[in-house]
Amino acid sequence: MSESSKIAQRFWELANKQPEKLAIQFGMPGQTEDFDFAKFWRRVERVTGHLQMTHALEVGQRVAWLGLNHELQLVSLVACARLGLIFMPLNFRLALPELQTVLQDAMPSILIHDEMHTEAANSLSKEGLPCCRLESLIHTSSPKHLALPVINEASDVLLVYTSGTTGLPKGAVHTQVGLLANAKASDEAHAFKATDIVLSTLPLFHVGGLCIQTLPALLKGVSVHLHPRFDAHAWLTDVSKGELAKRPTLSLLVPATMRAVLEHAQWVSADLKSLRGIMAGSSTLPLAYLETFHARGVPVGQIYGTTETGPVSVILKFQDAIQRMGFAGWPHAKLELQLTDSDGREVNQGAIGEVRVRGANLMRAYWRAAPQGGDEGLNDGWFCTGDMGYLDVDGCLQIVGRNKDMIISGGENIYPAEIENALATFPGLSECTVVGLPDERWGEVPVLVLVRASSVAGRQLTEAAVKTHLEAQIARFKLPRRVVFLDELPKSALGKVQKPILMKQISRH
Ligand code: AMP
Repeated sequence: MSESSKIAQRFWELANKQPEKLAIQFGMPGQTEDFDFAKFWRRVERVTGHLQMTHALEVGQRVAWLGLNHELQLVSLVACARLGLIFMPLNFRLALPELQTVLQDAMPSILIHDEMHTEAANSLSKEGLPCCRLESLIHTSSPKHLALPVINEASDVLLVYTSGTTGLPKGAVHTQVGLLANAKASDEAHAFKATDIVLSTLPLFHVGGLCIQTLPALLKGVSVHLHPRFDAHAWLTDVSKGELAKRPTLSLLVPATMRAVLEHAQWVSADLKSLRGIMAGSSTLPLAYLETFHARGVPVGQIYGTTETGPVSVILKFQDAIQRMGFAGWPHAKLELQLTDSDGREVNQGAIGEVRVRGANLMRAYWRAAPQGGDEGLNDGWFCTGDMGYLDVDGCLQIVGRNKDMIISGGENIYPAEIENALATFPGLSECTVVGLPDERWGEVPVLVLVRASSVAGRQLTEAAVKTHLEAQIARFKLPRRVVFLDELPKSALGKVQKPILMKQISRH
């Protein structure tokens, strides 16, 4: 057997080296199915055959996925790697028009979906996109001889969309070698052990859910418990019930899921002794949450990064978690990190600057980006994150804010422009803008500020009409939590909305 895809080669080796070791336990506690590394590989072979023979997919084509977390999602990613296809998991929280925008950009050749997303898939298939249910991937038996293409390690394998500053989503393209470099960085962060069990509950359509723990653990031969979606009760049950050696030792949480766990009735009595540590990220983390875990003997480390960086870039290991609580950590061994001022010059140690990173774990480019990259992509291999931070004397990074407008609500990114664009032609509006205000539960929430037009339509404009319009256009998590009407927006001399002043103004409202 020869696999030219390095990712596939790794799974083939694991299937031979440790065939009976659990690769994935899939499902909510009490309704799980186990897949050992041999079975996982057999499924990879079947899905490869299906994609190649039934759908005649060829190198470079995109395979979109719309569904809750599923073991076949990971199987399909490896099958895509073997065939030189680009796997493209979609954010199932997006509204239909948002999904359409992403699909028009990426032009996948097929959309694989679960039962829950049949209706959305049917609507999308009306536009000519072939769709299939995920179960059909394994209907055909494994072909004996597959004519696999030769895959270069630098070939693209994963396309993940992230909200863009302009309101248009951008696809970050990751290569096979990039995913492997990211997996190596994750191994450095976690120091995976053969006895580890990773509990994965965050959505695999984000690099956070897919590439911080899940894929790196599997590539290392470590077992994963995969839940279709996050549920605090299921998380606590998996962690605290059953034979100790079969319970998760590692998991990844974001502030919103952490809070759900801490507020759950089962938290106080849950037996957490199997946990070696929790990794957290996606936004700055409330210290009170970290302290609560630490008080129960569970260190919370951090991973800092973005969709474009794979994401594993800066890591706070468990052994440093308590001492450096609130810090993002240190760049991984192979990452270059700089903090720069607005002219792109490196700032002095201790001063605040924009975080720039360069390393093999970064994306190749944005999908359809000009070859030179430029400001919007990589510049000489560097990616400007838009996050502001400073380095402590020992090089430990603290993130202090963002120089971009982005709002992070419950771990999901929202760009004001996404909401503003959806209202661009709405009748009766003179102006609108969106700001993020702090929120105890979600970290931040979007607040929509509107100025009525002086026309009849303007006088008749209601909050309800605006909300109904937005509900059909954008994902639920992006919907403004508050709508404020003002007579005018505070502006600078150049006519730019002064958001800090506006935020003060509306927090008084
Ligand atoms: P995404 O591209 O969706 O992964 O979002 C990336 C953004 O999430 C970064 O630019 C940061 O603003 C934020 N972020 C991710 N991890 C952390 C972290 N550990 N601490 C603070 N902010 C983070």
